[in-house]
Amino acid sequence: MKPRPSFPAKLSGSGVKPKLGLGSSAPQSLSVSPSKNTAALRTPPVSKGLGLDSSAFRDQMVAKLAAQGVQDALVLKAMGRVERHLFVESALAGQAYEDTSLPIGFEQTISKPNVVARMIELLRQGAHGKLGRILEIGTGCGYQAAVLSHVATEVYSIERLRGLHEKAKKNLLPFRLPNVHLIFGDGMLGFPKGAPYAGIISAAGGENVPQAWLDQLATGGRLVAPTVTTSGQQALVVIHKTSQGFDRQVLEAVHFVPLKSGIA
Ligand code: SAH
Repeated sequence: MKPRPSFPAKLSGSGVKPKLGLGSSAPQSLSVSPSKNTAALRTPPVSKGLGLDSSAFRDQMVAKLAAQGVQDALVLKAMGRVERHLFVESALAGQAYEDTSLPIGFEQTISKPNVVARMIELLRQGAHGKLGRILEIGTGCGYQAAVLSHVATEVYSIERLRGLHEKAKKNLLPFRLPNVHLIFGDGMLGFPKGAPYAGIISAAGGENVPQAWLDQLATGGRLVAPTVTTSGQQALVVIHKTSQGFDRQVLEAVHFVPLKSGIA
């Protein structure tokens, strides 16, 4: 049976999006020297919430991801845990578990679940257990950062649009993810304070992979980024940094929002 929009309505009551602010008791510490643009996401306890309805939709989404070829058990588990419908406007919540990208405001989009899972699987290729510290370029609404928080020990996520940075902070509060650190800044410069990273993942596509990312990647680490290739089309590029240099693989065509420099 196809999951359809009835479920957000059923979520009301026990499953409304919890509204919590950072209480005075909320610790704000960061594990790397925090800049004033860095927000740690240690938050107060969240109300028990979403009923079986939304988890059933996620289970169905995860089964589909597995059928589409996603094999990494940790990725599938993380995709099954994060309540994607809480990251989109309530009018779009009914589509949250379908394989579709959705608008998140500020002319940006959240990628399809399949693309999120595929990219994280590529990032984790060959990893046993959780990845170490990772850097995400393009926090957007914070959804992918939440997924990443379950497959890596620390997640640094940087966003160049202040409005989205603020939105992600708000969206992530109820999830209580102390290992997610949101940064407002230009991700083309990476985030040197957290380097070296076991993985770097970009949710925005550039003409090239910025040198800063290559520099900030740990030896043995992987970088996954939509990048314009020689064909002039955007494709997923995976770069593995080894002691001998960089191995670069160009994979399938993708359509991501552009990687832009500077902040706005
Ligand atoms: N991972 C996000 C998807 C966000 S879409 C999510 O789960 O919602 C891509 C994001 O990349 C946009 O929010 C865009 O503003 C941001 N972006 C583009 N160029 C950037 C840059 N140089 N630094 C940081 N963020 C950037």
